[in-house]
Amino acid sequence: MKITLKPLGNIADEIMEKLKDRVGGIFCCPVEIKSGLSDLAQAYNPERKQYFSSKLLASIKKSERDARAVGIADVDLYVPRLNFVFGEADVGSGTAIVSLCRLRQEYYGLTPDEALFLERATKEIVHELGHTFSLGHCPHNKCVMHFSNSLADTDLKEAHFCNKCRPRIIL
Ligand SMILES: [Zn+2]
Ligand SMILES: [Zn+2]
Repeated sequence: MKITLKPLGNIADEIMEKLKDRVGGIFCCPVEIKSGLSDLAQAYNPERKQYFSSKLLASIKKSERDARAVGIADVDLYVPRLNFVFGEADVGSGTAIVSLCRLRQEYYGLTPDEALFLERATKEIVHELGHTFSLGHCPHNKCVMHFSNSLADTDLKEAHFCNKCRPRIIL
């Protein structure tokens, strides 16, 4: 079984490759990159100037040989009633989506830091994948399944599952 990462819209190959290696290292399984939706216009909300996360998530199709599929978008995502989301998961279909948009230092007017950006992106992908294994939020603040209310929470936690969450990941 393998995990598939799908770029949604334009994502540099180099970023996809780096995320693939990191996610594979954590789940200890093969990770493959397959093309995803290229035109995200159908999910754009001009009033919010953001993209509707659930709509893009529904576009991610998982083949039977894939254990899980995760869409990676570089646009700002929202769901109704929330200002934004870092990502979203659907347990039933085994699919998830993550936004890279708010994970860059430059989004906040700070100096770019690629290592930090990749670390954050890995955590968000692993977190949403954890949800597809029916894991809820973990009270352990270093566990990747800890809820991130802000990037400070994301930076505090690790990219790995804690001892309680880890056994529930069955690939
Ligand atoms: Zn979560
Ligand atoms: Zn945990």
